[in-house]
Amino acid sequence: MATKTKTKSAFITGITGQDGSYLAEFLLKKNYKIYGLLRRKSDPTLGNFDHSRKHLNLLYGDLADQACINMYLAKYQPDEIYNLGAQSHVHESWHQPLATADQTGMGALRIFEAVRNLCPQSRVYQASTSELFGETREVPQDEETQIRPANPYAAAKALAHFDAQIYRRSFGLFISTGILFNHESPRRSPDFVSRKISLAVAALKLGLHKNIPLGESGQSVLNHQGKLELGNLDAKRDWGYAADYVEAMWMMLRHTEPDDFVVATGKVHTVRQLCQAAFSATGLKWQDHVVINPQWVRPTETGPLVGDYKKIRSTLGWKPKTTFKQLVEMMVTADLKRLRQLR
Ligand code: NAP
Ligand code: GDP
Repeated sequence: MATKTKTKSAFITGITGQDGSYLAEFLLKKNYKIYGLLRRKSDPTLGNFDHSRKHLNLLYGDLADQACINMYLAKYQPDEIYNLGAQSHVHESWHQPLATADQTGMGALRIFEAVRNLCPQSRVYQASTSELFGETREVPQDEETQIRPANPYAAAKALAHFDAQIYRRSFGLFISTGILFNHESPRRSPDFVSRKISLAVAALKLGLHKNIPLGESGQSVLNHQGKLELGNLDAKRDWGYAADYVEAMWMMLRHTEPDDFVVATGKVHTVRQLCQAAFSATGLKWQDHVVINPQWVRPTETGPLVGDYKKIRSTLGWKPKTTFKQLVEMMVTADLKRLRQLR
């Protein structure tokens, strides 16, 4: 007689975000029972993830509230916890340094404390970031590269990263960190340069003059002159596809022991190359539409950020599946489709 395997449960913070939505879909296919922490908002929709709502157990709460985290983790005793919730935008972290420290840094520590005291058998994934390497002098970066945060977001993530390692060593908890390099998708917030560009390209291609979509920091994605305003075009990043990366998170919690893993593509591109790829996907010339606005140039720039993912490839067998060109074209195509409905 076939033995029935127990349904696994996962508690996901940041379920409304880009990665949380892809991870939830990935785990649903694996038959997980999912508990998702959701901040109460005046608009209760989940955006382009709303279709999955009926399969999820959504729980109102906040990473700022230790009592609510304790209550849920004590009650549900999840097999796995994915801490993806954060104020995740570098530029915004200079405007909201205290909230960023609290949600992105202390929020993780609140999860670790709850696990230590209430569900020490749970396996935890902590969302670390290539921003930890900040003002790095090493290229590419791997798990041994020195941590040199260069902005309030990275400093908050460094607190969470070090505490993950400390709680693992001190209390024997299974806490793994994924040091993920930039990863994008059609669900990426327009606060990030990839989506800001793909939305602008779609708006320009469709000649949208009214109903211009919102871009970074809630501003219109095209300015009064119909131009896309960007900051540092020479910034270098290692851009991958979010849906590829959530599988790496899950694989880390399948491993025999907790550890730290870089997740990246190993390929570097500039913001200028990103513009070129996105505009040329629709036959437009980026130089005709992009202007520089110092508002988007950061007080300190990080990088060049490019990851060496050989550890996760050799230990867990993970590797990226989507190329930079495929990713950019996927984002532009998705925004064209979305904006056609606005015309
Ligand atoms: P995202 O789209 O900005 O999503 C962030 C999520 O965190 C949202 O669901 C947000 O909820 C939630 N959140 C924010 N503050 C919260 C709080 N106080 N309590 C509970 N939830 C809160 O970010 P992402 O791109 O999916 O990234 C997921 C994680 O990976 C983040 O921790 C990010 O810093 C990290 N990371 C991302 C990248 C990347 O390139 N995407 C790279 C490295 C690391 P609301 O919907 O209510 O705002
Ligand atoms: P980050 O790497 O997490 O900060 O992701 P972003 O997508 O916000 O930024 C990636 C890079 O693009 C950074 O080096 C930014 O300085 C650069 N960049 C250039 N222009 C812009 C812009 O207009 N908005 C944003 N968000 N980033 C920009």
